[in-house]
Amino acid sequence: MRYQRSSALFQQASQVLPGGVNSPVRAFKAVGGTPVFVKHAQGAYFWDEDNNQYIDYIASWGPLLFGHAHQAVLDAVIGRAKKGTSFGMPTALETELAELAVSLVPNIDKIRFVNSGTEACMSAIRLARGYTGKDKIIKFAGCYHGHADAFLIQAGSGAVTFGSPNSPGVTAGTAQDTLLARYNDLESVDALLQANKDSIAAVILEPVAGNMGCIPPDPGFLQGLRERCTQEGILLIFDEVMTGFRLAAGGAQEALGIPADMVAFGKVIGGGLPVGAFAASAEIMSHLAPEGPVYQAGTLSGNPLAMSAGLAMLQTLAADRQVFTRLAEKTAYLHQGLEAALKDSGISYRINRMGSMISVHFTDEDVRDFESAAKGNNEKFKAYFHGMLDRGIYLPPSAFESYFLNDALSYEDLDRTIAAAGEVFRSMG
Ligand SMILES: *Cc1c(COP(=O)(O)O)cnc(C)c1O
Repeated sequence: MRYQRSSALFQQASQVLPGGVNSPVRAFKAVGGTPVFVKHAQGAYFWDEDNNQYIDYIASWGPLLFGHAHQAVLDAVIGRAKKGTSFGMPTALETELAELAVSLVPNIDKIRFVNSGTEACMSAIRLARGYTGKDKIIKFAGCYHGHADAFLIQAGSGAVTFGSPNSPGVTAGTAQDTLLARYNDLESVDALLQANKDSIAAVILEPVAGNMGCIPPDPGFLQGLRERCTQEGILLIFDEVMTGFRLAAGGAQEALGIPADMVAFGKVIGGGLPVGAFAASAEIMSHLAPEGPVYQAGTLSGNPLAMSAGLAMLQTLAADRQVFTRLAEKTAYLHQGLEAALKDSGISYRINRMGSMISVHFTDEDVRDFESAAKGNNEKFKAYFHGMLDRGIYLPPSAFESYFLNDALSYEDLDRTIAAAGEVFRSMG
């Protein structure tokens, strides 16, 4: 049996870990079946505990821009570990990574390192609230900013009503301060701005959405947000946990040419170790403790192993800016191949892509916000996912996730993927 050992390990894990995992999407709930347990990985591939080999299209959900076990990152982490793994005191590494990040990313002077994208976004809105003296934030349905209470909010009954909690344990009080707009819809933002004059601290969004599949911003959408935020004294926060150091060295701000007031990072900035960060102008960041009154802290923040991995990653991409072009070309090639296979099959589909992010939606409607993404046919997605899994192609196990291509993927890997998809689509059609 192909997944025998993974199944046994999942059973065992489920005895001591809720749902057998430490993060829900790993559990295959959206696609059924039991998750594969990873044994080891190299470059574009990983091997599961049953020794099946896979071409990996998630690469740890984005951090591994150059693929698994990249030599520069390994050398940095192993070398650093021998000198001690954590101090709770400053190291020169933190400044080095900060200087490099600030030099690569537009419109930021100072950066604070944390341990996850969740922490970065959570802290960014606290700083935005402390800085502006206002309480409410606007987020967009379908954008994910980690699992802090303020973001686990769904749209209320009317377009202009308050949000409501979308997880037990999030209070109605918290939900009141998060207003829900529709992605790619400036009118929904205007309605919220009008109904909440002078009480909105920040608008936060993924400048290219990646947590409802990949959804690029419509032309004018980000520019429209930028203008409205500037006019109303609202901070525009780009959650670049996914897009940062992936769409370009300077992230979506650079790739799309729209300046943000604050930026949140995660994923690539840690090179595969737990790092998050948020950044802004020196003026905004001066409000953060210990320089200013807005409190934020962390025992393992700026951890030397994590910093050394992030530094190796950012140094590697800074020295090889062509990586973004290579990745975009590989993603376009995959797009063409999947599109040709889907056309032949007669299955309804939409493919969304930007840079090295891509997603396949089984629908005949354009996917440009959460509602249209949710109309995708999940039975078709499950069949596609498992067909590919059985052929050694690991796709994100949810229709609401983007693929993340990495530089270790060869055109031969892409051709194998396209051929496998052709077989799977024919069997589904
Ligand atoms: C992954 C992600 C987060 C959360 O980061 P964690 O490190 O998982 O806490 C936040 N925002 C976006 C856009 C993400 O993709």
